Amino acid sequence: MQGEKYLFVVSGPSGTGKDTIVARLLETHPEITRTISATTRSMREGEKDGVNYYFVTREEFEGKLQRDEIVEHTCYCGNYYGTLRSEVERHMREKTPVILVIEVEGAGNIKRMYPGATTIFVLPPNMEELERRLRYRGTEDEETIQKRLKRAQTEIANSVDYDEHVVNVEVDSCAESLYSIIQFHIAHGKE
Ligand code: 5GP
Repeated sequence: MQGEKYLFVVSGPSGTGKDTIVARLLETHPEITRTISATTRSMREGEKDGVNYYFVTREEFEGKLQRDEIVEHTCYCGNYYGTLRSEVERHMREKTPVILVIEVEGAGNIKRMYPGATTIFVLPPNMEELERRLRYRGTEDEETIQKRLKRAQTEIANSVDYDEHVVNVEVDSCAESLYSIIQFHIAHGKE
């Protein structure tokens, strides 16, 4: 499909800081946007509907799936998460860079669907730091933290298939690395 090179998938284990890096990138480069996913998980303190996610019920999510309004979705720790077709294809048509911040299964599905998209894996500096970040966030119970850590190890082991990798040691420099990757792929990717 035309415009695939404008799609950038940022993925990596929960707690690596991918949302923070992308938020910083969008602050400094407002010509870049990110998609807002639909999810059935409950809203965390400080989150807003239509800003962080479209928070929907399981029935609403399944309705969107049936109407083919969702291009990829996954069930993550018991909740649905999905990327809306409208959010992705508009940017491809308009040729404006758009970032999807999604987990690894979704990243693989997007790459299969849109081979011209660039997949970027965000690594934590090490596993101890990842665990510290997950705990510091204070939003999950112990069982969920353990589930997320276990999943992180598998995800990192399988990250070789990604087009690009960045290590999140420091937010600003990581956001700038992401920006260089985006510029490179837009300049050199197939139209
Ligand atoms: P959280 O509950 O921490 O907001 O998100 C859990 C995981 O789901 C994160 O890795 C996040 O990037 C991922 N995620 C968020 N939206 C989507 C989506 O639309 N599709 C997929 N595949 N993963 C998503």
